[in-house]
Amino acid sequence: MKTEFHYLDYNATTPVAPEVLDAMLPYLTGRWGNPSSSYDFGHSVSKEIQEARAKVGALINADPREIVFTSCGSESINAVMHSAVEITGKRHLLTTSVEHSATLQYARYLERKGCELTLLPVHSDGTLDLRLFENMIRPDTALVSVMWANNETGVLFPVEEIAAICRSKHTLFHTDAVQMPGKMCLDAKAAGLDFMSLSAHKLYAPKGIGLLYIKRPRKFQPYILGGQQERGRRAGTENVANIVAFGRAAELAIERRRDQRRVLELRNRLERTVLSTVQDSCLNGSESQRLPNTSNIAFDFVEAEAILTRLDQLGICASSGSACTTGSLAPSHVLSAMGLSPARARGSVRFSLGYYSSDEDVDYLVEHLPGVVASVRALMPSPEADVTAAKDKSSEQLSVAAGLKRLK
Ligand code: PLP
Repeated sequence: MKTEFHYLDYNATTPVAPEVLDAMLPYLTGRWGNPSSSYDFGHSVSKEIQEARAKVGALINADPREIVFTSCGSESINAVMHSAVEITGKRHLLTTSVEHSATLQYARYLERKGCELTLLPVHSDGTLDLRLFENMIRPDTALVSVMWANNETGVLFPVEEIAAICRSKHTLFHTDAVQMPGKMCLDAKAAGLDFMSLSAHKLYAPKGIGLLYIKRPRKFQPYILGGQQERGRRAGTENVANIVAFGRAAELAIERRRDQRRVLELRNRLERTVLSTVQDSCLNGSESQRLPNTSNIAFDFVEAEAILTRLDQLGICASSGSACTTGSLAPSHVLSAMGLSPARARGSVRFSLGYYSSDEDVDYLVEHLPGVVASVRALMPSPEADVTAAKDKSSEQLSVAAGLKRLK
């Protein structure tokens, strides 16, 4: 897929693959019936929904009956947290300080409603202390929710081990695996998960479709009530075209598994070159326990937003974890939780590659980035002044809930 710009932000979203668009279009044009209708024009499309369910089931090694289509990853995450508290009657939630805002914000909401919340800290490389994790599970823990791969740094959590610990303590476990498919292989059964959330727009399908894996025979209290769609677990007339698209994207992801190696090599070249050509830069997050497509790089003495603006002018799309809240740039909650200083966190940029990333994209970035960083640094106050200013602002900006509007 050729674009007029260089897209290095696949963790934010992915383009819809042409094959996926072809598969979904008939359900927006000719075959637009309601799958719940009794006549054939409507009812016949329910077969395609079941086929799509089987295809996504094959991608994650799940029984199709264990898959509930939702509107997005955020809905899946909110729904599982809601359900766990309702079903178990327990009032404690355990998650990490580096989760996506869909988890953190819903956990905070439940906290306001009377639940207790424990946010696990992470090491400086973004990894978890499993011993500490185990000690934090309580008899009244309704749900443990730990992401599989971090969207900002790509750092992977040992989900299989976490699931085993939860099993041994008879505690429900959910993983936000939104960043996994298309980048790593997923096996819900082998991992021993109770629940897992996915989102199709990270997998070359449209925005507005996600899924919740619910291991059979786990109980589930629906979040959206109404009709009996999705076996009574999620009401709302099915988004047939998007569901079909998700199924086709899952099929393509299986066919394209071998491409993950190419993306890894491309990412490694990008990372090596940037780190060796841009002074005062370093990698954020574990080098080895990481998604093969993601590099989060700190550039000292500079604001990432300024780098991103220049890159944007050059036709390069990348992201930072900074978010503009009340006029000031709050550092990423993920990088802050890893102990980065606010200044270093605000100088960090995420590059994430995908199926359509090419050598030219990386060549173009590494050709321009050193000059971009140098020119932005030349405009910044001296490093000493920057460090003093950063210290002044630091503590209130370390809050876990801070920011994260820009970086998905
Ligand atoms: N979890 C992670 C790790 C994500 O990266 C995202 C998307 O940005 C989400 C959850 C939310 O997914 P969605 O955009 O489908 O609501």
